[in-house]
Amino acid sequence: MQKPTVAIVGRPNVGKSTIFNRVVGERVSIVEDIPGVTRDRIYSSGEWLNSNFHIIDTGGIEIGDAPFLEEIRQQAEIAIDEADVIIFMTNGREGVTAADEQVAKILYKSKKPVVLAVNKVDNPEMRDSIYDFYALGFGEPFPISGSHGLGLGDMLDEVVKHFPEMNEEDYDEEVIKFSLIGRPNVGKSSLVNAILGEERVIVSNIAGTTRDAIDTPYKIGDQEYVIIDTAGMRKKGKVYETTEKYSVLRALRAIERSDVVLVVINAEEGIIEQDKKIAGYAHEAGRAVVIVVNKWDAVEKDEKTMKEFEQKIRVHFAFLDYAPIVFLSAKTKKRVQTLLPKINLASENHSLRVVTTVLNDVIMDAVAMNPTPTDKGTRLKIYYATQVAVKPPTFVIFVNEPELLHFSYERFLENRIRDAFGFEGTPIKIIARARK
Ligand code: GDP
Ligand code: GDP
Repeated sequence: MQKPTVAIVGRPNVGKSTIFNRVVGERVSIVEDIPGVTRDRIYSSGEWLNSNFHIIDTGGIEIGDAPFLEEIRQQAEIAIDEADVIIFMTNGREGVTAADEQVAKILYKSKKPVVLAVNKVDNPEMRDSIYDFYALGFGEPFPISGSHGLGLGDMLDEVVKHFPEMNEEDYDEEVIKFSLIGRPNVGKSSLVNAILGEERVIVSNIAGTTRDAIDTPYKIGDQEYVIIDTAGMRKKGKVYETTEKYSVLRALRAIERSDVVLVVINAEEGIIEQDKKIAGYAHEAGRAVVIVVNKWDAVEKDEKTMKEFEQKIRVHFAFLDYAPIVFLSAKTKKRVQTLLPKINLASENHSLRVVTTVLNDVIMDAVAMNPTPTDKGTRLKIYYATQVAVKPPTFVIFVNEPELLHFSYERFLENRIRDAFGFEGTPIKIIARARK
């Protein structure tokens, strides 16, 4: 199911990121404290009245050294391009400013619905100040307070009203959907072509084109796959195309629709910060991951090169320690055939369910081996564990006090679970719940 996208625009300091965080909520992240994952929160998902949607904080999209107004203008254009509904945010304490009028001018030109929010209306007495904002020409302004969490419900009611009908994405549960993500020029398009090489039966050529990607379903034997390809969707000639975070947006949406994400790295260039960022999103979204080192043909190698490269990856992508690594060349097609088994394996583990009794044996053995931690005189007690979800496999552990399950002990339990059941290729989530 595709979700509608909401973008927040407005000049700096009106409270966009405060509202973004409110709407996204304090969702438990599976990477909380994992070093190496770079989080920038510009894109996430929210929920209101049974509607799920994506939300973008355009304020987080840095446009290089662009002057102030130019930056706001580009952010507004991104919102117009990317969003189904735009939240135009202003500041009730400062009134309508020239910069607000600039943003309004850009938004007039779009046909996208705009919901005008006046933030920092922290108490009812301030509500009178919102009338000036009618002058911006977007109808009724919605007074809100990000710091106090006021008015968000009414504003979101209005946002949800404007959601378009979304097309159902009707791939069967058994179809393995995967995407390729990575920086420009690492060879994603070439790899798509190599994967779709001669012997594949393409079920229907370009079955679906979404705003972000081209879907190509194909079949090998009885197994159906869908490649979600974002690389072919480049918009040429737009200024913001060059901004790193903008191109990341597209990858993020492909990640959300995937079961398995291939993180493609260019062997010639090694690993750079942006690779980690992108991979971090796949991990955080709970998708299965296969790391693909492409252009292996272009590397001068001896018998140690692969091992060394692998070690480098393990250091840089410590949070992806479960992801298999495949070395290949999309150009010469060498070793491309080693990729598919890893995609299958990762996908299988992503939806693997384990038997509850065996799981509890594993946990109890783990506790016997390495006693639970104590904090201020209280020891963590683990009562029992159960798997509550797949994609990714998610375990709830019932304990006396959830705060006592520290990161390091959780990590220890995760490792014991992995030792017992494998789960290669997929992240797993552990949630502690109190049982009194
Ligand atoms: P952005 O630049 O538009 O993303 O704005 P931020 O979300 O970073 O907020 C800018 C400043 O306004 C921060 O100091 C926030 O704490 C403050 N702020 C955000 N929402 C409110 C609000 O509802 N009331 C008040 N009084 N301050 C707020
Ligand atoms: P994308 O931007 O990630 O989709 O990358 P492309 O598939 O467009 O490839 C970028 C460039 O890298 C092109 O010039 C390709 O010919 C080249 N390339 C792709 N795969 C390989 C490979 O395995 N080996 C070598 N040597 N070059 C490759």
